[in-house]
This record gives sequence, C-alpha cells and structure tokens, in this order.
Amino acid sequence: NSQRLYSRVYYFLFKFLVIGNAGTGKSCLLHQFIEKRCKAERFKDESNHTIGVEFGSKIISVVNKMVKLQIWDTAGQERFRSVTRSYYRGAAGALLVYDITSRETYNALTTWLSDARMLASQNIVIILCGNKKDLDADREVTFLEASRFAQENELMFLETSALTGENVEEAFVQCARKILNKIESGELDPERMGSGIQYGDAALRQLRSPRRAQPQGTQECGC
Ligand code: GDP
Ligand code: MG
Repeated sequence: NSQRLYSRVYYFLFKFLVIGNAGTGKSCLLHQFIEKRCKAERFKDESNHTIGVEFGSKIISVVNKMVKLQIWDTAGQERFRSVTRSYYRGAAGALLVYDITSRETYNALTTWLSDARMLASQNIVIILCGNKKDLDADREVTFLEASRFAQENELMFLETSALTGENVEEAFVQCARKILNKIESGELDPERMGSGIQYGDAALRQLRSPRRAQPQGTQECGC
C-alpha cells in the first residue's frame, strides 16, 4: 500500500511535550491528535484514568514536508508535582495547556512556563492551548485575557477541544510549522545537541545524494 509507505518517509522528527495542570485534558489532546477519537463514549471511558501511554507519534505534512511528531505526555506525574528535568530535556516544541473553565489552571501557567524555559531547550517553541472550548458556558478565562498573556510571553495561542477535536490538529501543526520556519531561517540548528530535532530517512537520502534530488516520499519503505 503505497500511501502507507509514503507516509513513513519523513524528513524531520520533532520531540514535543504536553504540559499543564492535571485535569486540563493533556492526555485527551494527545489521543485526539493521534487516534482521532471523537466519540464521547470512548473518550469518557479512557480519560478517567491516568493513561499508561507515555508517548505517541504521528507523521504529518507541514509546508510540504513530512514531519514525525513524537509527543510525550506527563502520564500523571504532574499530579504529584514531580515532572522531572529529564521530561523536558531535548524538546523542540510544547503544548502548554490550561482549562478555560478553571482559573486555577490558568494561574498555574507562569510556573509551567518558567519550568519549561529553564529546563527545556532555550529555543523550545510553545503553543498555549485553552482546552475545553466546548464548555463555553462554564468559562472562567476569556479568550482576550489569554491571548494577551500569550502575546506578552511570546507564545502562540489557540483554544481547543479535545472532546470535539476542534483545533487539536491545528495546535500541533502550527507549532511544528513554527519550528520548521526556524530551521529554514537558520534560527534553529537541528544538529545542535538537545534541539529535539532529528533527521528522518527522507532527509538523509537527500543529504547523501543531493544531485539525485529524489522527490520527497519515493515509494521505498523508510523503515
Ligand atoms: P490530564 O490530566 O491533563 O491528562 O487530563 P485528561 O486528558 O485526563 O482529562 C481530564 C478530564 O477532562 C477528563 O474527564 C476528560 O474527559 C475531560 N476533558 C479533557 N478534554 C476535554 C475537552 O476538551 N472538553 C471537555 N468537555 N472535557 C474534556
Ligand atoms: Mg494525563
């Protein structure tokens, strides 16, 4: 199945983190992105427990390049305020999540942000996600307030719903696009230690034989 083989050939791999208070919907965002689980039933069944999965990955197309996102989830560590230094190490991007119906989770953002800036790569690209957008009636944080916070702290910003899927893919894609832009402008060096970026097979093939300039995604298996 050529479509499947094609999708395995990626140019870059980016390591992503999902951070924010417990209960904001981090695990659901990850599942929604990877498995597109929109059904409320399954969503409810599984999100009540801390999930066992600690990371997931998905290949997406970003500005005509296939990029593999490897996304790490705190998997419940944040409940015990024990998100470790090693969790942050070598991440290229992060989703910083709060719950629009909980001011407490919004107030915690400054702590999460200072940890990320201190413990992750200097160049980490962060997108702020105001999750549970579907619960607008219970909103405690306005869009405007959060977008100002994002602007002041140089974060991208979206409101998302891990329940309906609204803006979930967009959050990951926007963050990946910004990283790719920074690589292409030379602001980010993928070869620097701890950049959170690796070359995939598609890139390696091009680097080895630049003359042959194979179009991205030849039908060879990239495993
Ligand atoms: P985590 O602790 O940050 O990983 O949060 P979870 O992903 O486990 O979600 C915590 C709770 O919020 C669960 O009961 C989810 O069903 C619920 N939840 C997560 N995202 C959304 C959302 O976008 N909308 C609504 N209505 N509920 C959500
Ligand atoms: Mg979780």
